[in-house]
Amino acid sequence: MLSYNDMKLVCMSYMDDFSRINQNRLIRTVEMCDLMEDEKEKKFTLNSTLNIILWDFEEAIQMGFHKFVKTKFLERYEAIQYHEANKKDCPGCKICKIGGLLA
Ligand SMILES: [Zn+2]
Repeated sequence: MLSYNDMKLVCMSYMDDFSRINQNRLIRTVEMCDLMEDEKEKKFTLNSTLNIILWDFEEAIQMGFHKFVKTKFLERYEAIQYHEANKKDCPGCKICKIGGLLA
């Protein structure tokens, strides 16, 4: 299970793929969550927003949002982690930029 911070990282990595209005929704939600203390509350709030903004992703609609988050988010998270561990050979890519959020 991904923590709130892990999910946030994955959401950020998808940022460019969301419509403008949903990018704003996501940014507002993350700002709000970052002010919360309770991990469960953060995840609940972020998930509520995902249930709205994932309509932007055809794949998520077909797969079902819950399953999409459980599988694709995890894959993306692992890809970011893997890249972080091996990035010394990377000349700089999109994931490098996202990885900066890990620090
Ligand atoms: Zn890179």
